[in-house]
Amino acid sequence: MTASFDRVLSADAVVVGSGVAGLTAALELAPLRVVLLTKGPIADGSTPYAQGGIAAAVGEGDSPAAHAADTLDVGGGLNDGPAVDVLTAEGPDRITDLMQRGVGFDRRDDGSLVLGREAGHDVRRILHADGDATGAEISRALVVEALAAGHIEVVDHSFAADLVVDAGRVAGLTARVRGEEQVLVVAPAVVLATGGIGRLYANTTNPPAVTGDGLAMSARAGVRLRDVEFVQFHPTALATGRDPMSLLTEALRGEGAVLLDEQGRRFMLEVHPDAELAPRDIVARANWRVLQRGGTVYLDATEAVGDRFPERFPTVYHLCREDGIDPRVEPMPAAPAAHYHMGGIATDLFGRTSLPGLWAAGEAARTGVHGANRLASNSLLEGTVFGRRVAIDIKASGPPAQVDATALRAAVLPGAEPAPQPDVVEDLRDVMWDKVGLIRRHEGLMAALEEIDRLDEKLEPRVSAASNMVTAARIIASAALLRTESRGGHFREDFPESTPWWQRPVVVNP
Ligand SMILES: Cc1cc2nc3c(=O)[nH]c(=O)nc-3n(C[C@H](O)[C@H](O)[C@H](O)COP(=O)(O)OP(=O)(O)OC[C@H]3O[C@@H](n4cnc5c(N)ncnc54)[C@H](O)[C@@H]3O)c2cc1C
Repeated sequence: MTASFDRVLSADAVVVGSGVAGLTAALELAPLRVVLLTKGPIADGSTPYAQGGIAAAVGEGDSPAAHAADTLDVGGGLNDGPAVDVLTAEGPDRITDLMQRGVGFDRRDDGSLVLGREAGHDVRRILHADGDATGAEISRALVVEALAAGHIEVVDHSFAADLVVDAGRVAGLTARVRGEEQVLVVAPAVVLATGGIGRLYANTTNPPAVTGDGLAMSARAGVRLRDVEFVQFHPTALATGRDPMSLLTEALRGEGAVLLDEQGRRFMLEVHPDAELAPRDIVARANWRVLQRGGTVYLDATEAVGDRFPERFPTVYHLCREDGIDPRVEPMPAAPAAHYHMGGIATDLFGRTSLPGLWAAGEAARTGVHGANRLASNSLLEGTVFGRRVAIDIKASGPPAQVDATALRAAVLPGAEPAPQPDVVEDLRDVMWDKVGLIRRHEGLMAALEEIDRLDEKLEPRVSAASNMVTAARIIASAALLRTESRGGHFREDFPESTPWWQRPVVVNP
């Protein structure tokens, strides 16, 4: 029955994704046997790109309650209180875990942690590493440990295609390894830690691996999804034509960098009392409007950071210099970019999804911590907190269940990787950026859905990153059409206000 697969792997759990969430879950699953699938080389998702830092109430005078209050403040009334409490209460202990795993957060000469401040945080509570290379440092430490861990088998360059479901339970998944090899992974527990959906948009900070595969895979299996219309657009990516766009971390504005238009006017002063430190969606839309009227946006750190730039923001400094900009003495051209997905696969406080045997963690999951908008630097924390909780829950489920042989009959070969169809993907990304982006309208969303259908017809009928992107795009555009109000990351020009009625989630596969 499984003869047509080139290889059958079996494990107690299979984890899809080698970002902070997947690596944390895989490590914490010890001593269970784990197969860890990752699309490219290990750590190919957003995690190593994270710059600003990781938020946790570790500073003097700070508290989980204060962190929770800030998280709820920006979430537009759609956060789940208990999930926010878990995130903020467990945050400090997970920071200790990361340090024990070898993550070197920046410290002062006296050994105390250096804490930064970012938009929406009332106090300085952002830990960072190597200035602005926090994600790379976390990723480095977790990868070293995962590669050395005897219980984890890393299968890189493998594309998880579809869940195998039998009698209402996950029994494993199918995958395509190095483009050709058809692999069946048999496991009673599957963890989707596939990251977000940034690549659906023409302008994004997200790397190529982040194509919404977990979302699409779950949708095909009838798994419940929530809040998918809420996409966070970062206000400031470096506008020099790169893909992905280099992020100009929020911490720059936290340090006092200001936004200027082409006439040198600090336009955020007229938009929001917190000016550049207003919630991300407000700053992003203000920047978009300047660009839409043909203007230019600059992020100016010459006064606020100046000569400290190379030391405080080495990653951004390096990226700017590669593009011929010296941010110590000149402003950086900036533009908004798709950055983070608040919604996703609906989970409970232990990462359980609506499908028994399936867990989700990290950006792929909708745990309820972010609501309609994410507080800066809460996502690395979410990956560590909920990655660990998923592992605890799987281990608490008792001895690994045996997968029934009949389940394997349900496994369908993923087929060889279809030829890349860059035209379809580029068109899709343009449609999403233009019509399902920062500013949405009924007509635009309807047109986007028609265009998505047209692009779908052009695709080869095999699961691929491109077909997953089309599936995810359709789900996001449909939910955005349904939500006839504005809230958090979702802004409808035709319904610019929030309404009490809509203080409820859009649920897919309810
Ligand atoms: C430029 C940038 C800066 C950021 N800065 C910050 C910050 O300062 N603080 C903060 O908290 N957050 C930040 N974020 C957000 C944060 O980095 C991400 O939300 C977080 O790292 C996501 O982690 P993850 O483990 O869920 O997924 P990712 O790290 O994105 O990893 C996803 C993994 O899933 C794998 N995968 C996907 N599909 C498949 C498939 N079909 N088969 C096999 N494998 C698959 C990928 O290969 C990858 O290994 C930033 C994001 C970006 C892009």
